[in-house]
Amino acid sequence: MFETVIGLEVHVQLNTKTKLFCSCPTSFAHRQNANTCPTCLALPGALPVVNRQAAIKAMRFGYAINARVNHHSIFDRKSYFYPDSPSAYQITQMHKAIVQGGELFIDLEDGSTKRIGMHQAHLEADAGKNTHDGDISKVDLNRAGTPLLEIVSAPDMRSSDEAVAYLKKLHSIVRYLDISNANMQEGSFRCDVNVSIRPKGQEAFGTRVEIKNINSFKFVAAAIAYEVERQTEAYEDGVYESEVVQETRLFDVNKGVTKSMRGKEEAADYRYFPDPDLRELIVSDEMIEEAKQMPELPDAKVERYIQELGVKRYDALVICSTKELAYFFEEMLTSNASPKNCVTWLTTELLGRLNKASLSIEQSPLSGAKLGELVSKIENNEINGKGAKDILDRLMEEDSSIDALIESMGLRQVNDDGAILAIIDDIIAQNQDKAQEYREGKEKLFGFFVGQVMKISGGSANPAKVNELLKKKLG
Ligand code: ADP
Ligand code: MG
Ligand code: ZN
Repeated sequence: MFETVIGLEVHVQLNTKTKLFCSCPTSFAHRQNANTCPTCLALPGALPVVNRQAAIKAMRFGYAINARVNHHSIFDRKSYFYPDSPSAYQITQMHKAIVQGGELFIDLEDGSTKRIGMHQAHLEADAGKNTHDGDISKVDLNRAGTPLLEIVSAPDMRSSDEAVAYLKKLHSIVRYLDISNANMQEGSFRCDVNVSIRPKGQEAFGTRVEIKNINSFKFVAAAIAYEVERQTEAYEDGVYESEVVQETRLFDVNKGVTKSMRGKEEAADYRYFPDPDLRELIVSDEMIEEAKQMPELPDAKVERYIQELGVKRYDALVICSTKELAYFFEEMLTSNASPKNCVTWLTTELLGRLNKASLSIEQSPLSGAKLGELVSKIENNEINGKGAKDILDRLMEEDSSIDALIESMGLRQVNDDGAILAIIDDIIAQNQDKAQEYREGKEKLFGFFVGQVMKISGGSANPAKVNELLKKKLG
């Protein structure tokens, strides 16, 4: 029996306006090399200056994961040649990163949580992009110098489920913190997966391989599954030493296999040394204060929803999984509708409809405040649940006021005893035989009478009242 060991390195593109060491914009440019200057082109003599906002965002992440935020940190040069990096080195933080240690709690399928230790998070500059077109290769340096935060976990994960749970939590946190848009398709949240196996009970780690740049949670799980199988087979076939070597591999998404890309470099291969053009990064008290300003994070939110709002843990985890859902839910609550009904109307009714229409919560045609208003109208007996569902269907298609829809759809709930009794008397008069059968013990006929009253009232009768009054009348 083997145990899987996984450690993750995630590159998060920080959402600063300008690059890490120059004032070029990080925004999309329509022309290649438009967003460049002597510094990010690495022209001789140009000097880098650290982006204050990038440092603050890195620090904010550090505080969010209970890490040590170093008030002094150092930038190092990592030497390698590649055409998309004209300086022939990357500026990163090797010897003393801005964020060290820390922890992150992942939420597992069975409702439990697990603590994952963190190694460090360091600032570094992204490279440019090479594009290939037939015989011609081009270099676009628009992305060169974009700030990245590389977040390195300890090798604390033991399954692909845990790895995916970690990535989801990390993704959620950086979005709550608003330090990155973390769009995986666009490459602003890129993941390297380190995987090894060891016989159960053995303390020493096995040899790890690093699988580079996987851009979806699904592929992370698939790449780990393949790698675990490959390494396990090698072990069982007695060829572990020769087959499983420390190396960098690539995941082929079409074939579902990993392939050797290159031998893993040792740190010495990169000739790391402190960048002589950059001084120590020293953070000021103002920066610390600014970095500590942060929103309520998902773990705290989940606890508050449970403790103060009486939301079930499962629902709280679903709602807090993204800031968009949580903020939508909190907007619903401003209507004074009960949290319990808001949960149901958000997670079942609205998310169900959004799912069907392939829309995300950000694309919801109605706001949280409006859905909250709808729920409060049920609670105030202005409409019943069925009517509210019909109104929600309409609100998915058009931007009308709820009151206008209640009137035009004739859904204003009839709560008046007299009006409901009038309908009940009519129905009983028309169905004497059935009323008789009911009184003689055929209890399931009760549903028939409820249905008739609701139908005649056009669905607008208060169902609780209908039940109560029918019971009285039928005896
Ligand atoms: P490097 O600097 O060579 O990339 P690190 O020590 O920084 O190596 O580790 C990189 C990542 O690999 C970390 O996320 C770490 O948790 C993970 N890792 C280290 N050893 C193992 C192992 N034996 N199995 C799986 N992951 C590992
Ligand atoms: Mg590394
Ligand atoms: Zn520049």
